[in-house]
Amino acid sequence: MPSEPTASAASSAAFDILCEPSELSTRNTDDVAKRQDGLIDWIKGMLMHSFVLGNQTESYVTTMKYIETLIKEHRIKGNSSRLKTLVPTVDMFHTELHLVEAFNMYNAKYSVTSRKHVPPTFHEIRHILNLSQLLAINVHLKMVSFDGDQTLYSDGGNFEEKSGLSYQIIELIRAGINVVVITAANYEHNGSMYELRLQGLLRRFAKARLSPAEIARFHVMGGECHYLLRAQLTPGDTIAHLIAVAHEVWQSGEGGKNCPMSWPISARESFLDVAEASFRASQSELKIRARILRKKTSVGMIPGGEAMVKVFPGGHGKDKIKSEILDEVALRAIEDIAKIKSDLIFPYCVFNGGRDCWVDVGTKGVAAKCLQSYFHVTPGECIHIGDQFLAIGNDISTRAVCATVWIETPKETYKILDHVLRFSLGKDKMERAAAAAAADDLDRVTQPANGGVPSLSLDVPEVPAVRPKVMNVYTGEMMSAPATPK
Ligand SMILES: [Mg+2]
Repeated sequence: MPSEPTASAASSAAFDILCEPSELSTRNTDDVAKRQDGLIDWIKGMLMHSFVLGNQTESYVTTMKYIETLIKEHRIKGNSSRLKTLVPTVDMFHTELHLVEAFNMYNAKYSVTSRKHVPPTFHEIRHILNLSQLLAINVHLKMVSFDGDQTLYSDGGNFEEKSGLSYQIIELIRAGINVVVITAANYEHNGSMYELRLQGLLRRFAKARLSPAEIARFHVMGGECHYLLRAQLTPGDTIAHLIAVAHEVWQSGEGGKNCPMSWPISARESFLDVAEASFRASQSELKIRARILRKKTSVGMIPGGEAMVKVFPGGHGKDKIKSEILDEVALRAIEDIAKIKSDLIFPYCVFNGGRDCWVDVGTKGVAAKCLQSYFHVTPGECIHIGDQFLAIGNDISTRAVCATVWIETPKETYKILDHVLRFSLGKDKMERAAAAAAADDLDRVTQPANGGVPSLSLDVPEVPAVRPKVMNVYTGEMMSAPATPK
């Protein structure tokens, strides 16, 4: 008669999944980590103690004070800090965080500690961290960088002229702060294409009559970190234009040796070959009616339009690729690229862009680092504002090189800029931006919409050429506008 198994044998049997470790990579995994943020989840757990202990405000504040102290220590000790042990994924902090002050401000407005049924949520902690970061930077701010899609405008959209964000940005520029849009959109040095997407902002620059020195503080970085353009305003023009800045000008500073100009084209091509092969394999296996784009520094997957229906009759994705599929394609690409990762001499990013999926050579972190050198500013004097701070996002790389603010929508960016203006420039600047935007919106009611310039499209329509031209935001191709619905 067999003997009873010991506790440890029973335990190991329970975990026996009948395969060798080498087979595990082929098994399905629910990659939960891609949707989590280690620091926020940990803070949420810490605050839960205060919630279950009866919601004493003092308990929450003591917790925040403790975390503030841990962050101070982490800034000194780095990987040997207590915080690193508690939250292994925690990154660098380029300033202290004023968590107690931020929590008190947030609580005073939203009564977090008065709630009986709902503890502080992930998004509330994200808001408090944002606020604590802005309070810490305060008057030391010298550079603000923005993601484009879903931060300044909706995914694949354009900067609306009615957006109040433009007058907030104008106040930053007037106060001597460098402002950069760091975007994955890549039209190389073709200024007119970025101008189409930012036209609402560039028109307001002209209306505000920014001086040559002021307008020169606004830049756009295309393709994550590859193409820099500077704004220029000719007297009498109704829109500012974007002029290419030569690679040698902004990549030759102290940090230039790690800038994109130093990465051999052959190394980029081999990397993109792997990325493209991964996308094509995913497309075939998952029957995605997608179009795969190969650019000089990126590979993308976008909705493929009618043409792909014939290729995958039983497939999906001609107009919109499901978010689950975009996540799956990105995670497969990450897995495939991991096999060659040790040979790579440059950073890269793989991300679900909301409506598309991309593998890019370089990162926004590289852009922020090169620009700090170009503008002679330090990491603690910069903030990057973006919406993609999860593992399959393309803003997360900036955490290593500057302070960051994580927003979810352009509306949230507006609130954040209210705080930036108030803390860094003064309440009068915040009020002036709001009043100017309100007055301009009122004035605009009597103006013709869009000034007659070409509009933008996310679709790949097949229509007669007599219709007005629109730009495909993914490819930069100009094409005929879709038919007006009857
Ligand atoms: Mg974005």
